[in-house]
Amino acid sequence: MHVKKGDTVVIISGKDKGKKGKILAAMPKEDRVIVEGINMLTKHKKPSGQMQQGGIIHQEGPIHVSNVMLYCNKDKTGVRVGQKVLDNGDKVRVCKKCGEVL
Ligand SMILES: [Zn+2]
Repeated sequence: MHVKKGDTVVIISGKDKGKKGKILAAMPKEDRVIVEGINMLTKHKKPSGQMQQGGIIHQEGPIHVSNVMLYCNKDKTGVRVGQKVLDNGDKVRVCKKCGEVL
C-alpha cells in the first residue's frame, strides 16, 4: 500500500471528499484503511452485562486505500508518492510534486 498507519491523508472520493485525517489502522490484506474522523458510522450497541450501557456509538469505518492520497505539508494537498533510495540504501517516500521526503 502507498500509505501506512500514522500517515496523514486526504480523502479524494466519497462523502468525506476533501477531508484530511490520520490513519488509525491499515489493513493491507483488504487494501483498506481507517482514517480518523472519516466515514463515521453509527452503531447501535445493545447493553451487555450489568455494568455496560447500551446506546449509540460513533466509529470510523474502513475505506478503500484508493480513496486516499498522502498529504504533503509543502503542497498542502494530497499528492502522488514516489520512491527514492538514499545513499545509505534506505528507501524513502517522496512527493512526486515537490520532491519532499514524506
Ligand atoms: Zn509535495
